[in-house]
Amino acid sequence: MITTYSKLVVASAISLSLMACGGSDSDSSNNAENFIPPANVVVTGEFKHSAETGKYFATEEYPSYVQYGQNAQHCYQNYNDYYYETDKVMVFGNPGLPEDDFTQAAKWVESNFPSALAAFGLTEQEYFAARGNIRYDAIRFIRDMLKYSNAIDFPYPTDFDTWTEQAQEDWAYDTAQSLSYEEVDAVLANNNYIGYLINDVGLEQKIYVCLHEQDNPYGWGEGSQIGITIGAKSIYKPNDIDQLIQHELIHTLQIAISGDIDGLKLPRWFSEGQAVYLSGMSVAKKEDHQEYNPTQVVTFWDEYGDPSDAYKHYGLAYQYLADANSASSIFEMLTEIGSQRIDWQLQNSVSFPEIHNYVEAFDKHMKQHNGTPLTVEQYRNNYHGLMSSYAN
Ligand SMILES: [Zn+2]
Repeated sequence: MITTYSKLVVASAISLSLMACGGSDSDSSNNAENFIPPANVVVTGEFKHSAETGKYFATEEYPSYVQYGQNAQHCYQNYNDYYYETDKVMVFGNPGLPEDDFTQAAKWVESNFPSALAAFGLTEQEYFAARGNIRYDAIRFIRDMLKYSNAIDFPYPTDFDTWTEQAQEDWAYDTAQSLSYEEVDAVLANNNYIGYLINDVGLEQKIYVCLHEQDNPYGWGEGSQIGITIGAKSIYKPNDIDQLIQHELIHTLQIAISGDIDGLKLPRWFSEGQAVYLSGMSVAKKEDHQEYNPTQVVTFWDEYGDPSDAYKHYGLAYQYLADANSASSIFEMLTEIGSQRIDWQLQNSVSFPEIHNYVEAFDKHMKQHNGTPLTVEQYRNNYHGLMSSYAN
């Protein structure tokens, strides 16, 4: 029944949310006041070889795209043995690229990391604690094994076989999520057919950066559980680089706080809108709200029109929430979303395409501009009505 770790991981990957970010520009200065300039840090580092250090961008042959994003393939396939490491960043990529591509990427990430954390309301320690030190694909694999009685060498509850399937699945999720680094180490060591050991699935307390080699702005940056994927600057360097780096870092913070092994759980307009708004990128003007319908863009495939316009309107929809709600209630909502497992039976019966954990937390915490409660349903169905009174 068990083939390989990576095949199973691919089979269990679900498409909750593509993090690839469209082209953006900040030609108008709307929202510039939210930009936190990068820290003036001196970044020093060293080029290293993974074969010598045992630290890899990834070790899975075919990881899920939820794990590392769309543009990171060559960092785990072709060029998985070369990186530049600084205090907080590891930059992986093609050894044939100029060294400056690596050192500059590290500097961009390291200097913008404090701004992204501050905008999101996290300390560095809180972020790394929330992200955890095990790759999501590994935890998901263990979860998928634990659903089945004695599928792996693990202390299952003695009456496990008498439980309902739902109870078994819930236990598998909760148990896998709560495993410490040492416990994951033991699971992998006791079940050597899995083919991986703790060094393969553990994470350094650093931001992992993968350099891709695309020569255009579309999808230039992505965020993942382990860090961000950005373009090599010798091939293509976008404008407003600090905002872009902060935007992608905010995606990694979102994944740590409101994501779990099953994905991010935020609708696309929210994850992009928050990243646009908090990084100081351009946001559409309130009075232009009629131009776009952001709150029904739940997945990448719901997006329509020019991506740059879409992003500005995602930012506007988020700005409304940020103006009407305290930063702490938004943060509390995100934390709740991340800490609750998806109930797939419930998910299949709800009337919205959003993940139900998001709907529940949003309805519980969010308020309209006039102080009355705001629900996902209202925001989807009466967006322009709400924005009209907001604009006046
Ligand atoms: Zn984005």
